[in-house]
Amino acid sequence: MITREFPWFTDWWQQASSLRERPATATLVCAPPAMRVDQFAMELAAADLCQSPLADGSACGQCASCGWVKDLQHPDFRWLRPEADMPDDAGDSSAAESAGGGAGAGAGDAEASEGGAGATGKKASRVLRIEQIRSLLGFSQVSSHRGGSRWALVGPVEALHFAAANALLKGLEEPNPSMRFVLYGERLAGVPATILSRCRRVTLTAEAGLMTAQRLASAQAQDWLLPLLRQGAVQPSAWAQKAGKTHPQEVLDLLGLWLLDVSRVQYGIAPVSFPQETKALKDQAQPIARHPQGSQMLARGIAQLLDHSRMADHPLNPQLFYETIFEDLRRALGEAPSL
Ligand SMILES: [Zn+2]
Repeated sequence: MITREFPWFTDWWQQASSLRERPATATLVCAPPAMRVDQFAMELAAADLCQSPLADGSACGQCASCGWVKDLQHPDFRWLRPEADMPDDAGDSSAAESAGGGAGAGAGDAEASEGGAGATGKKASRVLRIEQIRSLLGFSQVSSHRGGSRWALVGPVEALHFAAANALLKGLEEPNPSMRFVLYGERLAGVPATILSRCRRVTLTAEAGLMTAQRLASAQAQDWLLPLLRQGAVQPSAWAQKAGKTHPQEVLDLLGLWLLDVSRVQYGIAPVSFPQETKALKDQAQPIARHPQGSQMLARGIAQLLDHSRMADHPLNPQLFYETIFEDLRRALGEAPSL
């Protein structure tokens, strides 16, 4: 494997065995947040393009082809992702590919205005732009340089908006026989049904403790939110101001894990995500246990957080969005409104 630092990759490799043995034109691979499903998608392509695969079918990581895939230089490999997901030093080839399409962008492609390289001082785009998809369709119509399959990674699917999804659909509907599309992402919710219906879907899972540790390790929200949660007494508007530029999904993930641990403690079970916060969790579980509708409140709160995830990528008003989230948290914990 090219990427060996993730302990769950070998397990995923097994989980995806049918996918590797009978590859589909289009595959959609989903995995929990922060588990690097994008790297796994790259492994699928690298393994097929590898000149001397290992016994388990994975890429050797040593041959010229593996090197080209890793450097995004392989003639039969493309990786389409939002500019925000491109590493600073490796964005050149992909950025060049997505540039130059601006003039051809449709009127409905409003998100294109979000794009722009870091050099211009603009924020890197978090969406897959329609010009990127169009350039991929050009790639997908040319036959393979090296006689095998051609691979295109596209993701995360959450970043695929309506116009771009429609453009991609064209490629999926009239595939060149040698093309393999691998779409990847964290959530199926919001992926257009037309795209879903053309993809073979694979959902990868990992052991719960491993997922939690990985999610928490990568969450910047921990730094400011965990001390607040520890102290309790939720103040929606003050907490919302502290959120600053944290991605709302990180906050929702962290709050969800926190409430699940409160729920565990309330039933006398040891916390899983925040074992070092047992005292704070107990303090918050006690009023819930005493409240006649405590368990329902908590369950409703967790459900509401999940519901907010649908809006997490594009809150219309971030401050207000965070205030709503923290208001729901306050209610879930059965705390009185702050004044
Ligand atoms: Zn190789």
